[in-house]
Amino acid sequence: MSEKKHALLSASGSARWLRCTASAEAEKNFPPEKESTYAAEGTVAHALAEAKLYADILGRDESDTIAELKGDPYYDSDMDRYTTGYAEYVAELLAEAKEEDPMAQLLPENRVDFSRYVPSGFGTADALILSNKRITVIDLKYGRGVPVSAKGNSQLALYALGAYDAYSFLYAPPMARLVIYQPRIDHIEYGDIPLQTLIDWGTEYVAPRAKAAIEGSGKFDPGDHCRWCRARIRCRARAEKLKAIAKKDFCEPALLSDAEMLEVLTLSDTLSKWAADVYGWAQAQAEKGKKIKGYKLVAGMRKRKIADEDGLITALRRHKLKLDDIAPRKLATIGELEKLIGKEKFKDWAADYIELPDARPILVPESDKREEIIVDLKNDF
Ligand code: SF4
Repeated sequence: MSEKKHALLSASGSARWLRCTASAEAEKNFPPEKESTYAAEGTVAHALAEAKLYADILGRDESDTIAELKGDPYYDSDMDRYTTGYAEYVAELLAEAKEEDPMAQLLPENRVDFSRYVPSGFGTADALILSNKRITVIDLKYGRGVPVSAKGNSQLALYALGAYDAYSFLYAPPMARLVIYQPRIDHIEYGDIPLQTLIDWGTEYVAPRAKAAIEGSGKFDPGDHCRWCRARIRCRARAEKLKAIAKKDFCEPALLSDAEMLEVLTLSDTLSKWAADVYGWAQAQAEKGKKIKGYKLVAGMRKRKIADEDGLITALRRHKLKLDDIAPRKLATIGELEKLIGKEKFKDWAADYIELPDARPILVPESDKREEIIVDLKNDF
């Protein structure tokens, strides 16, 4: 899902500005951040996915577009496989919708306008399926980090409201279905919600908050959502909250209780991210020539590297050194091999030679989607 033209109150940023209504105004002081390579890769994947929806489902000739995208440096066989899987999944949803309502139709990359609730609010839904049964909003997420939840997803909810506004003269669905398709981590999730509930949410919750945000009368409300805010490094409200946490008075008794330890644990992630952000800001300022009081720039650790591998091999061979000793052959990594021959073939050809050693469990917040490991205390003892 994309919002190529920048909107002040974007649907993709709605989880932030709906909570912290002052953030839209605060963000104005900071330029948009540079597009990361992940975002650039995602843009190519979305374009390819869109072309496949048109070609594979709607029968439009997209061969030139697909050929051009396959020449992009970010394209690889995995992207081809993931986007084909996405197109097949959308085709399945469309077929199911048509069984329920022959009038069902698919709209790939459809611009939706939700300005009834959010001033100038618009965006582009990766895929919409409209029928008299439900509006389905499908969002392709090409990231492989954290699984994105479909349930309670304000971005998709706003797109559903925009789609309903645009097409309610054709369809009268009672429900909306919000779908996340995140193929690189095998994550597909959907949530159903009555359309009237969405409309009430848009009218009673979103609209007044959007109004406050746009008029500059919003309130600061720091939280997890700060990590996506351009003002996060210099925001006073966030700093005050984090400073209050850091200064927390753990006085009596001498040792912290389990509950107090838990409090510190819950906040440690936010505090460490904030510290890293501030450190990054100070480093960038110093590199631009600004003196940071109490700090100085020094030479970083330098590591030797071979500038001319062939030249060095020839030079060492002249001294009768064996090639196997100076340049031993090394097998490519699993990732490199998968890239070379494709994940499916690699699984077929290499399964007998690969093992997955046990890993030490890691402690993560309960909101993490991964399955919990239950430690058997009896066996442990
Ligand atoms: S950093 Fe957090 S509290 Fe500050 S403006 Fe951004 S979202 Fe709001």
